[in-house]
Amino acid sequence: MWFGVVSLFPEMFQALNAGITGRALKDQLLQLNHWNPRDFALDKHKSVDDRPYGGGPGMVMMAEPLREAIHAAKSAAPTPPLVVYMSPQGKLFNQHAAHALAEKQSIILLSGRYEGVDERLIQQEIDEEWSIGDYILSGGELAAMVVIDAIARLIPGIVGDQDSVLLDSLSDGLLKYPQYTRPEQVNGASVPPVLLSGHHRQINTWRLKASLGQTWLKRPDLLAKKQLSREELALLNEFIEDFLQ
Ligand code: SAM
Repeated sequence: MWFGVVSLFPEMFQALNAGITGRALKDQLLQLNHWNPRDFALDKHKSVDDRPYGGGPGMVMMAEPLREAIHAAKSAAPTPPLVVYMSPQGKLFNQHAAHALAEKQSIILLSGRYEGVDERLIQQEIDEEWSIGDYILSGGELAAMVVIDAIARLIPGIVGDQDSVLLDSLSDGLLKYPQYTRPEQVNGASVPPVLLSGHHRQINTWRLKASLGQTWLKRPDLLAKKQLSREELALLNEFIEDFLQ
């Protein structure tokens, strides 16, 4: 998958050279190319921002250097790209959005800075705006990296065991069941005996019940959105009864 990043701080994206995304970049399963708006500044001072019309605090990124950078990225993209602006005003990015974006072959991610970007640039060049949460970051770079990482995990071949991706929390609208590893005793706490039993059906049932239970305890908003089967409803009720005893 191809990403074109438009940012004043391309060096921040070096964080993606570690771990799973790093391997994917090396193996060319993920391609990351950078365009710095400063290289497209129109004046000799390389200005990319100016004061807001109407007054007020801070600076606003100017439309033209950003437009030129986006157009350069578009010409380099292997397929017609989706142009995304990382913005606190965008739709909330979640696992469902990650799956939808992972269907694209090329995406340009624009990271803003300062007070944001000239509205006309958004109107004229941006296809979608995505936010990574209801808080304000100093710039869109971290947000763009979050989006790249979440999408990369969904591209076949990038995570070694694709099953682990399908079993991740939120993939089916539920949180993942609790997990344990060696040793069997940790500070007096033992592993639930069913996980040591070798009975795969019982383990799967325990995991589904635990997954429903975790979601009920930690993210009831997710349960409210999910249509539960009769079996899932029965397991959730069992979990709640056990919990309330
Ligand atoms: N003044 C802007 C506002 O109130 O909407 C916020 C500007 S913010 C300091 C600078 C840049 O950080 C934005 O242009 C955007 O690219 C990025 N950014 C900040 N918070 C974000 C979030 N929650 N999700 C995605 N991008 C964000």
